[in-house]
Amino acid sequence: MRGAVMYGPGDVRVEERDQPKIVDATDAIIRVSAACVCGSDLWPYRGIGVEDVIWPAPMGHEYVGIVEEVGAQVETVEPGQFVVGSFWASDNTCEICRAGYQSACINRVPMGALGAQAEFLRVPLADGTLVATPDIPDDDLLASLLSASDVLGTGWFGAVAAGAGPGKTVAVVGDGAVGLHAVLAAKQLGAERIIAMSRHESRQRLAREYGATEIVEERGDAGVDRIKELTDGLGAESVVEAVGTQESMLQAIGATRAGGRVGFVGVAHDVALPGMELFWSLVHLHGGPAPVRRFLPELLDLIWKREIDPGSVFDLELPLDDAPAAYEAMDQRTAIKVLLQP
Ligand SMILES: [Zn+2]
Repeated sequence: MRGAVMYGPGDVRVEERDQPKIVDATDAIIRVSAACVCGSDLWPYRGIGVEDVIWPAPMGHEYVGIVEEVGAQVETVEPGQFVVGSFWASDNTCEICRAGYQSACINRVPMGALGAQAEFLRVPLADGTLVATPDIPDDDLLASLLSASDVLGTGWFGAVAAGAGPGKTVAVVGDGAVGLHAVLAAKQLGAERIIAMSRHESRQRLAREYGATEIVEERGDAGVDRIKELTDGLGAESVVEAVGTQESMLQAIGATRAGGRVGFVGVAHDVALPGMELFWSLVHLHGGPAPVRRFLPELLDLIWKREIDPGSVFDLELPLDDAPAAYEAMDQRTAIKVLLQP
């Protein structure tokens, strides 16, 4: 089968990979209907944090597809069903999973290591990981269902972790797909004001479509000052951090009012929080790799009923064989999010 493999920073190739097989009785094999390139795939692509990467590395951890085959112990999904999973395979039964933190499941398996940018994918812990849709979806739902696999679920977790809810003012730092979906989530969760921080016209437009009521173009300290100006000098009650840099994290903390919440979902790179700044901020910090599985049933239901259209974040669709071009487009920010069609 065909699959994307990174040979080193900036070097993605699509090549013949071994057809995945059932290894454990709890596995499923799916025929991937759509996959995509994640903002987090760009870190190794740019050579950041690659000290421990073993090249060549199969790529991709976002996927939807049709179940081809299941192991002997799989009970909740069967061949022929359309399924969505997230970037951690999880049993969904351990104590951590039952508390809603499936991304820290005691038996978790990173899907990125299995490489979802491919024609077929082995999904461990299939019963816990995969959620089937009521039927085979219409083509126009495919992108939205795929988004639930990571970006939507991650943005959603960011908004939940930030305490977004009715009457709240929510600010979102980061205008990538996750940030934009955090805007969508904040709207769905009933936020009154949603401030998107973005300086790109096309991303601002999408943020408004998803429910942003205000846009702030300033960054860093100037961005913090602007958020304070818009909130009577107090800061926002809920701030989602969806970038993962020192500047964005401090921007998020600085833009949050005392007693407010920061939901941080950008993969942190060289972020070191100054203790005194944290001490005086009086904010709640909650975040990390999103337990997307917690939200999947609810998100699939909203998508199935066409109440949300997160798939519009995909502004480029390419055949799997063009994966190198997909990475380049996202790296150069000429595309927000690229869908790959195996
Ligand atoms: Zn678990």
